Amino acid sequence: MITDTVRTRTISRARRRRSESLFDSVLGQYEKAARIYGLDPDVQEILARPMTEITVNFPVRLDSGQVEMFTGYRVQHNNVLGPFKGGLRFHPAVDLDEVRALAAWMTWKCAVAGIPFGGGKGGIRIDPGRYSPAELEKITRRFVYALGDNIGPEYDIPAPDVNTNAQIMAWFLDTYLTSVPPHLRNACTHVVTGKPLASGGSRGRDKATGQGVVNCIEFWAADNGLDLGSATCTVQGFGNVGSWSARLLSAFGTRLVAVEDVTGAITSDAGIDPEALTRHVSETGGVAGYPAAVAIDHEAFLRTRADIFIPAALEKQIDQTTAEWLSVALVAEGANGPTTPEGGEILERRGISVLPDILCNSGGVVVSYFEWLQNKSSEYWPLGEVDEKLRSTIAESYMSVSEAAARHETDWRTAAYIVALARLEGAYRNRGIFP
Ligand code: NAD
Repeated sequence: MITDTVRTRTISRARRRRSESLFDSVLGQYEKAARIYGLDPDVQEILARPMTEITVNFPVRLDSGQVEMFTGYRVQHNNVLGPFKGGLRFHPAVDLDEVRALAAWMTWKCAVAGIPFGGGKGGIRIDPGRYSPAELEKITRRFVYALGDNIGPEYDIPAPDVNTNAQIMAWFLDTYLTSVPPHLRNACTHVVTGKPLASGGSRGRDKATGQGVVNCIEFWAADNGLDLGSATCTVQGFGNVGSWSARLLSAFGTRLVAVEDVTGAITSDAGIDPEALTRHVSETGGVAGYPAAVAIDHEAFLRTRADIFIPAALEKQIDQTTAEWLSVALVAEGANGPTTPEGGEILERRGISVLPDILCNSGGVVVSYFEWLQNKSSEYWPLGEVDEKLRSTIAESYMSVSEAAARHETDWRTAAYIVALARLEGAYRNRGIFP
């Protein structure tokens, strides 16, 4: 059984001495919520570090004939509630600290959503734009091979994240299936989610994260008297999450007035058509040069007056400087970790509401769970069923977080952590610690 013995908590202090990393900020959020909730100290110790961290270095022969070494990671934070679950990111900034943070967020996110998954995350430190599709295929396949038995359909299930997509998941699946005996292959298609439909993907998975973001915004708007039909929004990142959030929100009449991605930022008072912008991005690679808007710089983008800001790019975008620039009522976090702790304090002081990442962008993992269930029972659910189940799952999470915020008189991020921690603590309390 878990005891309430108070031990010297060394991890936090040691971490404080190091320069602030992304995982440090996860721990900061975590420790605040643990304190307010009164988390069992033993459980707090367990959840403060990942269970497993895997680094693999592997060679790939490029189109030129030269061999290049790549570094990939998979961090398995916790699996007390179910198999490790989380995306794979291909980005030059990927490192162990970032993957560790993203893996922990997955643990909290799955727990908030009430789905039977734990948290994991992975990635390759790579600028994918520098490689041909044939090279990316080889890199993906060699990474899967290097991970070996560290992944599995009932053990650790990856999915898309920044710069990875359904095609990469299909290569992932195909490579994994070659490693299992032929008669078991069709029983293992749930080793990865976010696959193309023909390879066992789920209807609605591509738009799922954006759909969940928009569901959350809808619930928040109803609670706060915001008419989405006359509202405005800005979106940072126009990839999977950003573009789908903008497109789905426009169906309510919400006007998209500014967008930023890695190629630049654009604005239009009259509104930017998200469908036309999506076509422009798929043809040109980014929002820069979109003809029906004017180019602005990063600061002007963040200062754009709107009702809703959806960060849907990378971490640490809203910090102690940029939080002062925002001129919005709501930040709906499509990205993971877009707000630093200092940025969050400023938003709170300025009365800007935040729908925190582990609630707001959970639509992707929820529909990944649906995909996993469909694969296990060899089913394809209709889109309407996926959308309806997603909406009710998000509605329940939203209500739980709202209630926790009221009960503990705290901000929504802390409240979301409290919902997650209560569920994780419950599992440890039932099971105890072996031996
Ligand atoms: P993506 O690769 O499809 O798109 C990323 C977007 O961010 C691109 O438009 C890119 O140009 C932009 N971007 C990159 N660097 C930028 C910068 N410095 N400034 C402005 N824009 C920049 O990735 P995605 O899948 O949409 O993921 C976006 C975020 O959402 C990430 O934080 C990811 O972890 C999170 N997320 C994704 C999913 C999912 O299902 N894909 C689920 C939950 C959370």
